[in-house]
Amino acid sequence: MTPGASLRHDFFPLGPFECNCSILSRDGRAIVIDPGDEFDQILSRLAGLTVERILLTHAHIDHVGAVAALKRHFGVAVAMHPEDRSNLEMLPVQAQWTRMPVPESFTVEHDLASNEILDCLGQPMHVLFTPGHSPGSVSFYLPEERKVISGDALFRGSIGRTDLPGGDHELLIRSIKRKLLTLPAETEVFPGHGEPTTIGVESQKNPFLSGRA
Ligand SMILES: [Zn+2]
Ligand SMILES: [Zn+2]
Repeated sequence: MTPGASLRHDFFPLGPFECNCSILSRDGRAIVIDPGDEFDQILSRLAGLTVERILLTHAHIDHVGAVAALKRHFGVAVAMHPEDRSNLEMLPVQAQWTRMPVPESFTVEHDLASNEILDCLGQPMHVLFTPGHSPGSVSFYLPEERKVISGDALFRGSIGRTDLPGGDHELLIRSIKRKLLTLPAETEVFPGHGEPTTIGVESQKNPFLSGRA
């Protein structure tokens, strides 16, 4: 492995809610973030790669639909913030709300902690605790790549909804301002839905974030 070499980042929407999945890879190894649906498509994009870990930004149904199948296929651990266990337990209820099939349940082996630094294929990956959209929402920051995977906290020109159980609008705004807008302006943001953006653009133009931090 070459130190400092950048990671390959495959970023693509899955399922009826077009939840963005990220596959980060290097030297035949991969980490999958938010495998929300369409296991077959994920698997085909993983050709030649061995998955080492599955990371979840949170446990809404559109972000976790293919976790069980992927986990079984590669025999890997799943990491998530424990505050979102309530959403995991509510998957059958979430399925009713969204008229989706109930996803196969899975276990979480690794409880992510705020400010934990993970090894992402040889690079540091910071766990930023960004609750508000859900109680255990996290974002994954890769300083060497100048990227943050923001889940449903921050979108291009918008922010996550807070009308679902455990949602808290004020908390979400605080999370975004304290944990995300404080990242370098050039940091690319890869949200849970929609197109990528940058911290600089959202700091200046996101209509939900105007006003004092
Ligand atoms: Zn969500
Ligand atoms: Zn979502």
